[in-house]
Amino acid sequence: MKYYSTNHKAPLATLREAVERGLAPDRGLYMPERIEKLPQDFYDNIQNMSFQELSLQVAQAFFGEDVPMPDLKKIVYDTLSFDYPVKQVKSNVYSLELFHGPTMAFKDVGARFMARMLSYFRQQEGAKGLVNVLVATSGDTGGAVANGFLGVEGVRVFVLYPKDKVSKIQESQFTTLGHNITALEVDGVFDDCQRLVKSAFVDSELREAITLSSANSINVARFLPQAFYYFNAYAQLKRLGVDKNIVVCVPSGNFGNITSALFARRMGLPISRLIAANNANDIFYQYLQTGKYNPRPSIQTLANAMDVGDPSNFARILDLYQVQWEDIRHDISGAVVNDATILRTIRECWQQNGYLLDPHGACGYQALISGLEEGETGVFCETAHPAKFKETVEKATGSDVKIPERLAAFMNKEKQSIPMTTDFADFKRFLLSQA
Ligand SMILES: *Cc1c(COP(=O)(O)O)cnc(C)c1O
Repeated sequence: MKYYSTNHKAPLATLREAVERGLAPDRGLYMPERIEKLPQDFYDNIQNMSFQELSLQVAQAFFGEDVPMPDLKKIVYDTLSFDYPVKQVKSNVYSLELFHGPTMAFKDVGARFMARMLSYFRQQEGAKGLVNVLVATSGDTGGAVANGFLGVEGVRVFVLYPKDKVSKIQESQFTTLGHNITALEVDGVFDDCQRLVKSAFVDSELREAITLSSANSINVARFLPQAFYYFNAYAQLKRLGVDKNIVVCVPSGNFGNITSALFARRMGLPISRLIAANNANDIFYQYLQTGKYNPRPSIQTLANAMDVGDPSNFARILDLYQVQWEDIRHDISGAVVNDATILRTIRECWQQNGYLLDPHGACGYQALISGLEEGETGVFCETAHPAKFKETVEKATGSDVKIPERLAAFMNKEKQSIPMTTDFADFKRFLLSQA
């Protein structure tokens, strides 16, 4: 299958090219040429399939022409070695817990899948040497990418992060791994990290000497596999006998997760409608109200992974709907949840249902219950473990949050990082010394 750019100026790309490039040369996002409906018997039997089995069928619809079955099966099965349960919170409201991967954030699946696919294509090409993945992080992405690529053959990852500006838990998730993961502690802010990475990609001397790649969240191999979550959620709801009139609510930042749900729906997954939950960064909500898209600088909120002022996957949503605002509004409604409401929601949901939300899940839960109608079954994504936002959650509920073993394990290991200045010449010298 070929991939086209949402800007329609770049030539069609193969899957391999789309994965290796991330962004299309015309700066658009890659889209698969076709979105195939899965056969009815798949949906009739989905409740009898494991997460890995059903995901393989979904993966085959996108990648089956380009990756032979045994290889695709290995990529999918290796990626999905964790369970993502749907839990009932109250009568017709369910939480889809997407935080059960290695770093306890939902980005784990995309990062793991992309790492394996990149490694597969490198092997196919008989490529010599290592591919160097550069990633700048303000916190969560670094952990998901580092753990996703950990131990994957032929790939080395350099995580650049701002010294003293990420939480201890976040820092431990990419500084304690060793092996093919190197953390660079930059004496600056996130923007400096991002500038260093961008400069590296346009430096011709560097590009001659070493192979560079990015694990950007817009990469098709990071974004499409998130659709697996929704098929798996449907299978679970079907087992529970509550698979009619399903409404899915996704707490959104760059809108990759909700776009993958829209893809699932195009493939025939019976989701009747979606809700996009925004925090105070309500650019998409305003678009739904007015038809006008006005990106603006992001503002800081308690649900910081959703602090995005110009969501990158908006281009994919427009493309899916051929820029028909009415059609987008028909399928997706919006909601805005501010910080005060996030805190109140965490407290009330804990008191009323005994279910502990993180600030992102709180946006999803609140947007869902205020929009859910009689006869509908609502599912919201709980995208991070509440312990990752311990202070906020404790402030909201007044009780202690226990750090789960999987997170604590990172913090007990020794930090290994290399100090780095904000000067590109230093970073370049370092990378060249690694060749
Ligand atoms: C990345 C992230 C989001 C937003 O997801 P998008 O795909 O960017 O819309 C929401 N919650 C958490 C915890 C995240 O890490």
